[in-house]
Amino acid sequence: MIPYGRQDITQEDIDAVIEVLRSDFLTQGPKAPQFEAALARYCDATHAVAVNSATSALHIACLALGLGKGDWLWTTPVTFVASSNCALYCGAKVEFVDIDPRTYNLDPVALERKLIAAEAAGTLPKVVVPVHLCGEPCDMQAIHALSLRFGFKIIEDASHAVGGSYQGRKIGACQYSDITVFSFHPVKIITTAEGGLAMTNDADLAERMELFRSHGITRDPALMTHEADGGWYYQQIELGYNYRMTEIQAALGVSQMKRLDTFVARRHQIADRYDRLLASLPVTTPVRGQDGYSGLHLYVIRLNLDQINPTHAQVFERLRAAGIGVNLHYIPVHTQPYYQAMGFKVGDYPEAEAYYSEAISLPMFPNLDDALQDEVIAALTQALQ
Ligand SMILES: *Cc1c(COP(=O)(O)O)cnc(C)c1O
Repeated sequence: MIPYGRQDITQEDIDAVIEVLRSDFLTQGPKAPQFEAALARYCDATHAVAVNSATSALHIACLALGLGKGDWLWTTPVTFVASSNCALYCGAKVEFVDIDPRTYNLDPVALERKLIAAEAAGTLPKVVVPVHLCGEPCDMQAIHALSLRFGFKIIEDASHAVGGSYQGRKIGACQYSDITVFSFHPVKIITTAEGGLAMTNDADLAERMELFRSHGITRDPALMTHEADGGWYYQQIELGYNYRMTEIQAALGVSQMKRLDTFVARRHQIADRYDRLLASLPVTTPVRGQDGYSGLHLYVIRLNLDQINPTHAQVFERLRAAGIGVNLHYIPVHTQPYYQAMGFKVGDYPEAEAYYSEAISLPMFPNLDDALQDEVIAALTQALQ
């Protein structure tokens, strides 16, 4: 089976992990700060907080922004469930904003319309989470302008987009957001096995995220309610979690970082070749380069169902049967049973649902060579008959 995504691990990566295993620190040593510094430098941002997953990063980002009971978080329905679950962890409520049918990202026009209605109803969001789907940057300038007008905070879910850029700056620079979150799950662009990171230019937000990452405990005298009892002393001043990244993960991350630009460039070569080879097939290829450079985590096609005989599910099953590990990113979150039980209904977000009825993620990873890609194209050509 050719998978839809796959990590690239070299001997150098393996050596970096082994070096940690022979060292004094398996956690809370020098590697996690080194990984944070490397990514902050890469993104040209000031503070990076490494954690054990992007899900944890989204959670501590929401906590640091003060999201809580009675507050609203808005995001796109076409995302992984973690982008909205983070609000529920904080006791806040979730609302979705439909996608732009061209880019598949949260539609700033729909967002503005919904904000005007929410302002009248007194239900404005505290946090909006734009997701750079497939790595393609959202219209951050427009979303940021709306944040100034309506007073919400922005967390970019850049789980698909590390290594990409927007308006000439790396995604993660946070020029239009409060916090940017990355994922390092093995299918993503660089990996730490499990892992995530929250980037910010705000020292207070970084300090609060560091607290929430590690039990809400501080050893900083400036944050304590009274002078330290002695050299052993620490205080718990918030209810935090254990979301730390291990040294093993961070060492792998530092090593992977060295190839980040090569990975993304290779993904662009593969996408360009897909664009060419798919041009004559009854599918819609993804738009790229909307004011930026995609991280290209995914390559999603939409089937032109009015031009073919088989159904979406049939094409998908035929590809799987032919050994092509296609996938579907994503089942719209509001159609999940857990969200339906909260009152969301099928039909609430028509563009997201139309996308879901036609989308298929083709294999996309740096080691997908031309021969493997040709296999994908041949199988797809057959499956569309
Ligand atoms: C993968 C992913 C996450 C969650 O990442 P983990 O590191 O697995 O927790 C969140 N949001 C999006 C958009 C993702 O693709």
